[in-house]
Amino acid sequence: MAEVTTETFRCMMCGHEYQEKVEKGEDKERSCPKCRSNSIWHLKKKRPAKE
Ligand SMILES: [Zn+2]
Repeated sequence: MAEVTTETFRCMMCGHEYQEKVEKGEDKERSCPKCRSNSIWHLKKKRPAKE
């Protein structure tokens, strides 16, 4: 079963921020749910610092 995480994306055109489920290793083209722009910035989550 594929690992699915919820990632945060931000539209560079209208500034809309949204979350979408992403399958691990998936690299599909995304578009803004608001303005349909495909200039989407993937906001990387901070990983907890642990040993
Ligand atoms: Zn947008």
